[in-house]
Amino acid sequence: MSSQKKSWINIPDDSDFPLENIPFGIIQKGENPPEPATRIGDTAVSLSALCDYGYFDDLGIDDLTVFYQPVLNGFISLGKAKTSAVRKRIRELFEEGNESLKSNGDAVNAALFPANKVKNLMPVYVGDYTDFYSSIEHATNVGKMFRDPDNALLPNWRHIPVGYHGRSSSIVVSGTGIHRPKGQTNPDNGPKPVFGPTKQLDFELEMAFVTGKETELGESIPVEKAEEYIFGMVIFNDLSARDIQKWEYVPLGPFLSKNFGSVVSPWILTLEALEPFRVKGPEQKPEVLPYLRVSGKRNIDINLEVALKPENENEETVVCRSNFKYMYWNMSQQLAHQTVNGCNIRVGDMYASGTISGHEPGSYGSMLELTWRGTKPLRLAGGNTRKFIEDNDIVTMRAFCKKDGLRIGFGECTTKILPAK
Ligand code: MN
Repeated sequence: MSSQKKSWINIPDDSDFPLENIPFGIIQKGENPPEPATRIGDTAVSLSALCDYGYFDDLGIDDLTVFYQPVLNGFISLGKAKTSAVRKRIRELFEEGNESLKSNGDAVNAALFPANKVKNLMPVYVGDYTDFYSSIEHATNVGKMFRDPDNALLPNWRHIPVGYHGRSSSIVVSGTGIHRPKGQTNPDNGPKPVFGPTKQLDFELEMAFVTGKETELGESIPVEKAEEYIFGMVIFNDLSARDIQKWEYVPLGPFLSKNFGSVVSPWILTLEALEPFRVKGPEQKPEVLPYLRVSGKRNIDINLEVALKPENENEETVVCRSNFKYMYWNMSQQLAHQTVNGCNIRVGDMYASGTISGHEPGSYGSMLELTWRGTKPLRLAGGNTRKFIEDNDIVTMRAFCKKDGLRIGFGECTTKILPAK
């Protein structure tokens, strides 16, 4: 029933990590130093160990130290030809019938670990981070709630992939708890703001891409070549405090309402792995300026879901199902726009999509939209209701692609909301 390749290690049916995936991340075993790794089925595979045993010796990689670094920036800097050769090598080593690794017991013991027995760390050092606002459904919903229902989209929206520069220091890996932020709000539009923990803590369901090639200051990336600069993707939960945001965002945009913690999934899926799931994006009207014009299948069909689990419930409740393919602005356009003024980019930079909402109410990618600013609370499986996220709630995002019997996925991006410090 599955067209997926067979391996000599167990890969459960419907795993996010078949041999067609081979994502990259950073793991840590006990007190050992962090090491680059991949994941196959429920097994984490150390690239340091595979390198120790010479499995990457003949791939033309001069600097093998990249397989021992605590972040993937060095590895990604090798360029797509080399990182693709590493993926191919790993896939071959684990294919059914290949004895090269399988018959080397010492190497197998050194390289393979149950995925739930290792810690996942941030896959890259993020130098810079941009958050776009590229879902037309999300931008329309927010415009209706915060501004004018009849003119929900601002005049620039269909011409510019709107975004802002966020903060990279507070991007953390899945599994990290985030404390409820404190800040200024002005709940009743009174004469004076108040200070305290946010009462409107929200998730934003986003995907992010990681750049794999740098540019020089002054250089622009042509939209048709933008994908050459994109290494891969992760799930991105851009936690947001809506009451703080509402008070602070005029005139310069989000600030402290968004930089107290953003959570990413641990495994970077390469664009190459995502290739079979390409689709065309929505039609863009009016036609965009020439530097943003791009043809072909530039969107990716990635199923997305968000689940909430309060502390006193045993089961999670899926509160949103959406899809990355709905994005109005694609990643090529975002990167072309990011650099059109000569802004330089570096390896490991992160670019989040903006909240990914679909047409239907159940596909909205934030609590703000799902509960329509708290006016329609969600009822959870265990009987609790939620307008926004409460303390000790666990938010889990998942993302996977499925087509013609092939499934690859990102695993989970999860975080627990801790009480304000
Ligand atoms: Mn966002």
